[in-house]
Amino acid sequence: GEGIGRVKPEYVKSFQFENKLMPSTWIVVRIDGCHFHRFSEVHEFEKPNDEQALNLMNSCAVAMLEEFVDIVFSYGVSDEYSFVLKKTTQFCHRRASDMVSLIVSFFSSMYVRKWKDFFPQKELKYPPSFDGRAVCYPSSEILRDYLAWRQVDCHINNQYNTCFWMLVKSGKTKSEAQDTLKGTQAREKNELLIQQFGINYHMLPAMFRQGSSVFRKKEGKTAMDKGGDPVERSQVKVIVDHCNIIETRFWDEHPSILD
Ligand code: ATP
Ligand code: ATP
Ligand code: MG
Ligand code: MG
Ligand code: MG
Repeated sequence: GEGIGRVKPEYVKSFQFENKLMPSTWIVVRIDGCHFHRFSEVHEFEKPNDEQALNLMNSCAVAMLEEFVDIVFSYGVSDEYSFVLKKTTQFCHRRASDMVSLIVSFFSSMYVRKWKDFFPQKELKYPPSFDGRAVCYPSSEILRDYLAWRQVDCHINNQYNTCFWMLVKSGKTKSEAQDTLKGTQAREKNELLIQQFGINYHMLPAMFRQGSSVFRKKEGKTAMDKGGDPVERSQVKVIVDHCNIIETRFWDEHPSILD
């Protein structure tokens, strides 16, 4: 047969396909926990919202923004996080598979590494994994529509899950709770929470209702110089907020994020 030395690298490489994302577009890499329905049961997450599990996700997202300068914003809810990369990014040469695999593996490693900080009493029973995909958005308007879609999804799911788990905790079976909620509108769900459980939906923690946004913020602070005189220093910090990103107000107040 032919010796291995005769195989030309260019020939072998020619089978790889170019998967470069369209230039000058916002790139969103969305990751999502694989089978977290099971993962959350095995690790006895509080239902419907385990606050520490969400804090762990948020902490991993902060680490992402600290590691990758081209991620300008991220939004997370439940077991998912969307990472927005700036239009001009040359991160991974804009190759989708490189980018997604890097983001997913870094996030997964962080999740495992930080687990004990958020669950000091709970053993991590098996290694979690995340899937990911990259999508291009050609304008900031469409990017904002994408983010609004995720936040609407967060709201709809949270309202449903809050009702569902209140019904289950009050003694209904899961299928009874499901039947009770079938076809109900948002207003009816809010009324059910108030009337049966005395819960005002709008008073629930903002992190549960709005999800989490992670972005950089310039913080002015007064430091002392060598002579002991005060000097203004500004410092960029990655912060977590639970704000409404559907309304334009947030974006008007933070123009530098999508500039
Ligand atoms: P897939 O692999 O298709 O994503 P999945 O089981 O992860 O399947 P999702 O639609 O991603 O399904 O939903 C994630 C599930 O993980 C939720 O339905 C919820 O049960 C659970 N979960 C995730 N985060 C939390 C949390 N902070 N508190 C309680 N439960 C959570
Ligand atoms: P990139 O991020 O582009 O992959 P890289 O630094 O990982 O950059 P590679 O071409 O993948 O570069 O090479 C991996 C490098 O890691 C090797 O050059 C070597 O220095 C080091 N390395 C990996 N495995 C081992 C090992 N088992 N023992 C010693 N060094 C190793
Ligand atoms: Mg999935
Ligand atoms: Mg999932
Ligand atoms: Mg999910």
